[in-house]
Amino acid sequence: MKIITAVPLTFLLFIPATLQAQQEKQIPEWCKPLPRPEYKSLQRVLPDEPWFEVYKVAAGVFAIYEPHQAEETISYLIVGTKQAVLFDTGMGISDIHKVTTKLTSRPIVVLNSHTHDDHVGGNWQFPFIFGMDTDFTRKNAKGSREDAQAEIASDQICGDLPKGFNPKTYATKPWRISHFIHDGFTVNLGGRKLEVLGTPGHTPDSIALLDRANGLLFTGDTYYPAPIWLFRPETDLDAYVNSAKRLAALAPELKLVFGAHNNPVAEPSVLPRLVTAIQAVRSGQGTVKPAGEGKAIHTLDGFDFLLAAAKKEKN
Ligand SMILES: [Zn+2]
Repeated sequence: MKIITAVPLTFLLFIPATLQAQQEKQIPEWCKPLPRPEYKSLQRVLPDEPWFEVYKVAAGVFAIYEPHQAEETISYLIVGTKQAVLFDTGMGISDIHKVTTKLTSRPIVVLNSHTHDDHVGGNWQFPFIFGMDTDFTRKNAKGSREDAQAEIASDQICGDLPKGFNPKTYATKPWRISHFIHDGFTVNLGGRKLEVLGTPGHTPDSIALLDRANGLLFTGDTYYPAPIWLFRPETDLDAYVNSAKRLAALAPELKLVFGAHNNPVAEPSVLPRLVTAIQAVRSGQGTVKPAGEGKAIHTLDGFDFLLAAAKKEKN
């Protein structure tokens, strides 16, 4: 802190409050409670990475977390004896390819939980990408600049952007889908098998990944411990409820659930509770608060759902 000498009393009373206000203006609200306490009990690896925080969350499973951007996206590297799957590639703000090569020497194939911009930003860096066989996926694979630019507005960033990052040219770069897949597709990593479960709702191409032998479920944006986005035009609420039910039915055979934002590790019992909560919210229960243009946050039993606000009747 700077020591100010020989300043008139009025300034001494005035300046600190102004400085404080300025500093608070620079720190977005979502950033203030970080780091999240849940991370303290997790095993951190590669502690010197400046943009990503990497945690070993199960045997051969790494959570690659981006705490400096408001989405707080988490991608997962799941390693077998022959190859590895990268389940999402994050924001594309820093070099996720470099991080994954520090975690495994095996070939890496990419699967996306869905193709919103905050999950596909590093896709272009990888030679082999599975894509769900939907028009939504094909459209998003062309990349876009608009969604990406909105992610780096000043209230979306907490701390420093990575060295060499150019905000002017930041965009979701296009990628090539190597192989189209459907619900029920399996990937054999060697000593570990992953099943693709189609879970449309949040988007038409949403999937979950099931490692049945180890009791691990990766839920993408169908479940994560933060307001779940269900307001966009590509969202189908009926499909979402059915997908949540499908995942909840697996809960008895699961050990851990990994979502795609904020905190990586959840108990399987969260899934049946999620179904109960979204059904109750749809029948009008819970508290409702407006959340920006055309949106409202519905809260019930510890779950938050960001839904399209009910349209006002004309007249
Ligand atoms: Zn999403």
